[in-house]
Amino acid sequence: MSEELGQIVIGEEEIKKRIKELSEQISKDYKDKDLMLVGILRGAIIFLADLSREIKAPVEIDFMAVSSYGSSTKTSGVVRILKDLDEDIKGRDVLIVEDIVDTGLTLKYLIKNLKSRKPASLKVCALLRKKIEQQMSIDIDYCGFEVPNKFLVGYGLDWDEKYRNLPYICALKSGSRNS
Ligand code: 5GP
Repeated sequence: MSEELGQIVIGEEEIKKRIKELSEQISKDYKDKDLMLVGILRGAIIFLADLSREIKAPVEIDFMAVSSYGSSTKTSGVVRILKDLDEDIKGRDVLIVEDIVDTGLTLKYLIKNLKSRKPASLKVCALLRKKIEQQMSIDIDYCGFEVPNKFLVGYGLDWDEKYRNLPYICALKSGSRNS
């Protein structure tokens, strides 16, 4: 284990169990619907891969990439589309699949942007939601875990493109981000 990594915040088994619960609920809610999962690159890929394979309903998958943290942990406050959807979502039942909600800025932008394309429905599934006071008020329809306000890595989340492949989620040791 790297010296940059701190304590495990959510273990591998806990993640698996929660994904099963979320996918059971999603399977029920989207029975007989036209579900399209929109994964937000790159952080959500591991979550999306595991979640989609547990969903017992036909799904289509598309991706968007938006700018957020880059190699610094401070958000710029501006969201830009780096890669748009390939599919038209008009009339589809769209579920945004996001890794983590921090300030909520990214999600707020995505919801507004995707709503303007007139999907039949638009909901949000986020694996993690940080407990912070300054978070924008956003309805998260399916939330995996509430997490403390620490910089987290693993299970899709990176630090400077590292650690996405860890099967668990852990905190980066304070000080590591400045090195
Ligand atoms: P927000 O717009 O909600 O402030 O930030 C959302 C995005 O910031 C996430 O999709 C993720 O890419 C990044 N982010 C926020 N918190 C963390 C964190 O603790 N660890 C990592 N690796 N990325 C984070």
